[in-house]
Amino acid sequence: MSDEKTYKFVCVVCGFEVEVDTPELPKDYICPVCGVGPDQFEAVEE
Ligand SMILES: [Zn+2]
Repeated sequence: MSDEKTYKFVCVVCGFEVEVDTPELPKDYICPVCGVGPDQFEAVEE
């Protein structure tokens, strides 16, 4: 178990998953696969 909280998001367009240590993706985050912005990502509960 790690004390570090991470947040996982999945791109709704291509399915790419990314983990960050903030509850939101940066506003300028771009999906490296399909190039969409953070408004096309959904939070994944684990
Ligand atoms: Zn994508």
